[in-house]
Amino acid sequence: MVWIFFTVGLLIGSFLNVCILRIPAGTFWSSSRSQCPSCQQLIPAWLNIPVLSFLWLRGRSRCCYSSISWQYPVVELLTGVLFAFIYSRFPFWDFATFHFSLPNLLRFLHGSILFSVLLVCLGIDMRHHIIPDVLSLPLILLSIPVFWVHPELTGKSSLLGVLFGGGVIYLIAWSYFLIRKEEGIGFGDAKLLAGIGGWLGYQAVLPTLLIASVVGSILGVGLVVFQAIKTHKVALQSSLRLEIPFGPFLVLGAFLYFFFDIPYL
Ligand SMILES: [Zn+2]
Repeated sequence: MVWIFFTVGLLIGSFLNVCILRIPAGTFWSSSRSQCPSCQQLIPAWLNIPVLSFLWLRGRSRCCYSSISWQYPVVELLTGVLFAFIYSRFPFWDFATFHFSLPNLLRFLHGSILFSVLLVCLGIDMRHHIIPDVLSLPLILLSIPVFWVHPELTGKSSLLGVLFGGGVIYLIAWSYFLIRKEEGIGFGDAKLLAGIGGWLGYQAVLPTLLIASVVGSILGVGLVVFQAIKTHKVALQSSLRLEIPFGPFLVLGAFLYFFFDIPYL
C-alpha cells in the first residue's frame, strides 16, 4: 500500500509541477496540455511519465534537446515520498484483514492535501520569492471545513492557529520594517503560517517557526561562508542582504511538526 501511495504521489507531484509553473504566470486555466517550455511543442503523454521520462530522456527534451529542469523529478519524488510517509503514518486500509479506518482516511487526506498545497507554495517561493494569495488565502479559509471533519483538530485550536500564525510573523515583519526601513520577512510568509496554524492548530505555530528559523539561519550562514570562500572576500554588506525565501523553511517546519506528531491539545 505504501508503494501504491508513493506512485499516487508521483502522479500528484507531476500536477503540482504544473501548478508551480502556471499559477505565477496566470495561465493555470488557459492551456490544458503540457508544452515544452523552450519551443512550445506539445509533449506526448508517453514522454510525460513522472521521473521515468526524465531519466529515459537523460534530462534533455525530445523536441529541441533543451535541458529539462531538475524541478520536475525533484517535486515528483518529494510528493511520492510525502504521500508514502503520510500513508505509513495513517494507514486507513489493511489488505489482509480488510479493515478500513475512517479517522485515518481523514487524517491522511488532511495531511496530503495540506502538504500538496504547501509544496506548490515552496516551489513558487523558491522560483519567484513570492507566496501567491490564491494559495495562502484559500488555505486559511479551508481550515473551517477541515477542523469540522478532522478527528482531532478543534475549531478553537484552528482559529487561534490562524490568528497566532499570521500575527506572530506580522509582528516580526513590522518590527523589522520599522528598524531597517525595508521588507525583510514577507507578508506572504505571515499568510502562509496563518494557513499552517489553521490546518494544524495553534500548537503548531511556534515549533514550525522555530524549526524554520534554525534551519534557515544555518543554511543562510552556510551560504554566506560559501560565497565568501568562492569570492575570497567577506562581503559583509551584501551578505547581510542575502535574500533567502523563508517559505520553504516554514513548510519543512510544518512537516516535521506534523509527521512527528506533537499531539493536538
Ligand atoms: Zn522543445
